[in-house]
Amino acid sequence: MIIKDTTLLSFSNLSIRENTDVLIEGNRIAKIGEGLCKGEQLYSGHEVINGRGLYLIPGLVNAHAHTGMTLLRGAAEDIKIDDWFNKYIWIYEQNLTPDDVYFGTLLGAAEMLLSGVTLVADHYFFMDRAWQAYKDIGIRADLSWALFGTGDNWQAKYRQTLDFTEKHLNRDPRLTISLGPHSPYICSDDFLKECVKQAEALKVKLHIHVSEEKNQVSRSLEERGKTPVEVLHSTGILRPGTILAHAYYATDEDLGLIKQSGAGVAHCAKTYLKFGDLHDFLPRALATGINLAFGTDGPCSNNTMNIFEVARDAALLAKSSVQDAESAAIKNLLPLLSGGGRVLGLPAYGEIIQGSPADLVLIDPASPNMQPEHNIFANILYSLGQRNIHTVIVDGKVVVSNGKLVNFPLAGGMAELYNEIAKIKNRITRAGRGGPMQSY
Ligand SMILES: [Zn+2]
Repeated sequence: MIIKDTTLLSFSNLSIRENTDVLIEGNRIAKIGEGLCKGEQLYSGHEVINGRGLYLIPGLVNAHAHTGMTLLRGAAEDIKIDDWFNKYIWIYEQNLTPDDVYFGTLLGAAEMLLSGVTLVADHYFFMDRAWQAYKDIGIRADLSWALFGTGDNWQAKYRQTLDFTEKHLNRDPRLTISLGPHSPYICSDDFLKECVKQAEALKVKLHIHVSEEKNQVSRSLEERGKTPVEVLHSTGILRPGTILAHAYYATDEDLGLIKQSGAGVAHCAKTYLKFGDLHDFLPRALATGINLAFGTDGPCSNNTMNIFEVARDAALLAKSSVQDAESAAIKNLLPLLSGGGRVLGLPAYGEIIQGSPADLVLIDPASPNMQPEHNIFANILYSLGQRNIHTVIVDGKVVVSNGKLVNFPLAGGMAELYNEIAKIKNRITRAGRGGPMQSY
């Protein structure tokens, strides 16, 4: 495949390279240059995408999501975080079936691809069914089955997760597996250590929530004499390639530990904004220089799976948190859009260079919200909408063309999916309302 005569944008140094051709061989970028197509017999026979008038950017990374929670979009609004968990989410989620997660994941993956996300780190339940949804739709994903290490029957569930991990490891190079202990506020020190031991034995990474809100830090200090990040440090969870979801209330010392460890943080700005939780995490994290990327969290708190929207919210949240318009500048935030690869331990991911994975997005700026172009990078951060996503390539294959999904796995298309989702929605919010945390 060759993308002809396009304009390359780099988010790492905000550079613009016009009139460029990008040759893709298999699932990698093979060559980048001017005039690769001119009279070259060598490249005849390649599928040609005309990139004139379009901008080529690396595929975006959603570094922390609960994709199946698309099923709960809009189901718990205008409430505090404790009620959100205890009165809604943990009750509704007990009604989820494996097939529900298949359809919910398909819905979220469709939304991500259509908004330019090529790689998602998903932390949820019934990940064997999520795996199938990602396989079917063609997005790249890292899957963690949420582990609690507590509650009824937790050993059997842990065994089931390890079986899933062993069975699906290396089955498809596009789909990787990590272990997903939920958080230090649910998992004991012993269970966290056990997860580290298993991750080493299986040669997989870890994905965990930490320091999402202020009370978690004070409770941890009272109960364990350590911040939640210090708990992860002392149990061995903090290590290269570990995805830390949130770390929003990480102290300066915690940020130092995270930096030393090589772990990365998924910043989910819209979730904090919705809970009315204004805090200066991002300016401090940027100053520390830790590995950072954006995450959507679940669509029940974030409402969309759109990473451009999270980046925009992150900029506004950061500026407001320190009341400084110069904070969280475009040049500091856009690299986080393509920096997810480092957070997931995939350093070549997110760069358009020879040999890097062919996960790419073409942006079409021909819409009123993107004109004029004083500063294309400002337009991307503050003005871009889903309609500007023209083409999406994952693993060397076109998965979105002209703003439409190319291969959708259900015979009845999106209409069939919406129909299934509507049925699930009615069932999970009605049936079997028990107490929270009953069956984890
Ligand atoms: Zn989360």
